Amino acid sequence: MNIINVQERGVALIRIHGDLNDFLPPSRRETWFERPCKGYETIKNLIETCGVPHPEIGALIVGGHPVNFDYPVQPGDMIEVFPITMAPASSVTLRPPLDEPRFVLDTHLGRLAAYLRMLGYDSLYWNNAHDAELARLAGEERRILLTRDRELLKRSIVVYGSFVREVIPVRQIVEVMRRFNLTPTSTVFQRCMRCNSLTTVVEKADIEHLLEPRTRLYFDTFRRCIACGKIYWQGSHYTRMATLLERAIRLK
Ligand SMILES: [Zn+2]
Repeated sequence: MNIINVQERGVALIRIHGDLNDFLPPSRRETWFERPCKGYETIKNLIETCGVPHPEIGALIVGGHPVNFDYPVQPGDMIEVFPITMAPASSVTLRPPLDEPRFVLDTHLGRLAAYLRMLGYDSLYWNNAHDAELARLAGEERRILLTRDRELLKRSIVVYGSFVREVIPVRQIVEVMRRFNLTPTSTVFQRCMRCNSLTTVVEKADIEHLLEPRTRLYFDTFRRCIACGKIYWQGSHYTRMATLLERAIRLK
């Protein structure tokens, strides 16, 4: 590769690493490719025009040196882009770390939202949410936006986010747990799967009249959502969910 020649032609050279290659056409995967460099363009913008949404990026290296999103690309630059899970230790932080991950999920990710709530994670989800609202919540409340819409992820207000690759919900929860290194929280099975609020222990006598006869007969310990009132107990549904989560934790 003739770097002088590259400079003269006004192009930058780019190499995308790891699963960020999912966003590239096959001819550009796992190889160096050229991109016209207009001058005064930030590296964030340049990489997004190649197809990679900025929240997916974990590190940017130019000519062996770490840079942040504001770096102005110069002709002749050799740019390496790493996903969050592969960011070299020496790289600069592209966004402040999150103490406690909280999520907002795109429509069509309802099962994934329920699984995250089961693990105890605060996860906003509505099946009729608009893109602008999802992006605003992600930005203003410092939430991780989970979506299968890469254009939504490219909005500048979104800081934390991930394009969910898997389509089957059980695989999606494993993917998200791996990506954000999630483990069950102290509120595992204590968050309402329907509305995201916390649940609290409730006396059986107070809710007995709301239970089906078999539930009333076989169960004595109950929790109730403080917002929507949904009642939870450790029945067959709970056992199925607990098994599913154990499997997800093992696969992680
Ligand atoms: Zn609820």
